[in-house]
Amino acid sequence: MEFPAEPFRVKVVEPVRRTTREERDRLIREAGYNVFALPAASVYVDLLTDSGTSAMSDYQWAGMMMGDESYAGSKNYYHFEETIRSIFGFRYIIPTHQGRAAENLLFSVALREGDLVPNNIHFDTTRANVLHKRGVPLDLVIDEAMFPEKEHPFKGNMDPAKLEKAFQVHGPGKIPLVMLTVTNNSAGGQPVSMENVRQVSAIAKKYHTPFIIDACRYAENCYFIKEREPGYGGRSLTEIARELFSYADGCTMSAKKDALVNIGGFLALNDEGWMDKAKNLLILLEGYPTYGGLAGRDLEAVARGLEEGLDEDYLAYRVGQVRALGERLDRAGVPFVKPTGGHALFLNAGAILPQIPRENFPAQALVVALYREAGIRAVEIGGLMFGEKEADGSEKYPALELVRLAIPRRVYTSLHLTYVADAVIEIFRNREKIKGLRLVHEAALLRHFTAQLEEVG
Ligand SMILES: *Cc1c(COP(=O)(O)O)cnc(C)c1O
Repeated sequence: MEFPAEPFRVKVVEPVRRTTREERDRLIREAGYNVFALPAASVYVDLLTDSGTSAMSDYQWAGMMMGDESYAGSKNYYHFEETIRSIFGFRYIIPTHQGRAAENLLFSVALREGDLVPNNIHFDTTRANVLHKRGVPLDLVIDEAMFPEKEHPFKGNMDPAKLEKAFQVHGPGKIPLVMLTVTNNSAGGQPVSMENVRQVSAIAKKYHTPFIIDACRYAENCYFIKEREPGYGGRSLTEIARELFSYADGCTMSAKKDALVNIGGFLALNDEGWMDKAKNLLILLEGYPTYGGLAGRDLEAVARGLEEGLDEDYLAYRVGQVRALGERLDRAGVPFVKPTGGHALFLNAGAILPQIPRENFPAQALVVALYREAGIRAVEIGGLMFGEKEADGSEKYPALELVRLAIPRRVYTSLHLTYVADAVIEIFRNREKIKGLRLVHEAALLRHFTAQLEEVG
């Protein structure tokens, strides 16, 4: 057996349809070579994201029937708050409709124009929310993260020396908070070690600066700590999570990830002043603080999902499923970010398609090929997502051109993932046929969502 068999069985099914090569050729052209513009019903295996795509359990669905839709003080809110406090330990907790809303609230109360925000690597919405408040995102990940083939047990770590230097160069007055993203999504879903969390926390404390965790995939991160970090093998995942958050002053969370729901998020903080301001904005933008833009039933599903998301059998199966996909691709020589992360496998499109120049978006070209050849939807994490305009109008590209195959939680079987592996290997063998792309329309922020492209040559 390649990885632990599913610790669940199927009770409800959702049919998926396979389209023809001709249909997909037309659909991807009509979508402007942007898979965000494709109808989901035309996708066979959807690995666009693991966000909000989880299959809920019967326990969660039963909780949805227990929704208390009172405007204020819903009983589901109390369950939500109590569950979060028992795992994360923070004093003040408010629900938001998703993670980016929590980020917006946090940066609205914490950031002034020109402030810097250090992070291991900002996730795209986090970066965009910092920029939106006219702040400057700093990515201070360890150098190992820049080498896709390099193995490291905690490749998501922040480099403490880079953080210390940021404080010395810019001064603590310019750095209102330090963030750490667990797992580090943009570096390949790579975990952060407990030791690194302690180091980052100690530096932030030294400069009297709040330390906030982007907690979206904290459960997967805790599983990696248990598996890889000396001293944690015998600890329960709940204990590991409690220790991890004990070093921080708050967190932002997208419940669409490790809380196993389709919508939801929260902001948790220990600082009363920040939370008071955030609550006022929450009322303005999202809703009253005991529902924050969610229905009572959604809050119940989050509370129950958080309990299930820390289950060790579930996490062993989940991490194992991603690992098994990696082993298949490795045997065929396909380059990808190693080791495989918690929620996704990141193909190294730069190494797969060296003939396509950066301005023709090699990673997006690979995304298009995956859809056209096999009906698989992946996402580009490269120049299209993270390219930036320089003052002279030229483009500055991120270090890597990656394609993320994000695995929805509890959704696809191992045979679906074998299909994916076979398709990737087939495309890899015919990679010299893949054409580059050219931008014909782009938005100012988060352009990858709405960009329109055309094929070159
Ligand atoms: C998904 C995600 C977010 C944003 O959450 P949304 O619910 O999509 O708004 C922030 N940070 C990380 C690391 C994420 O993966």
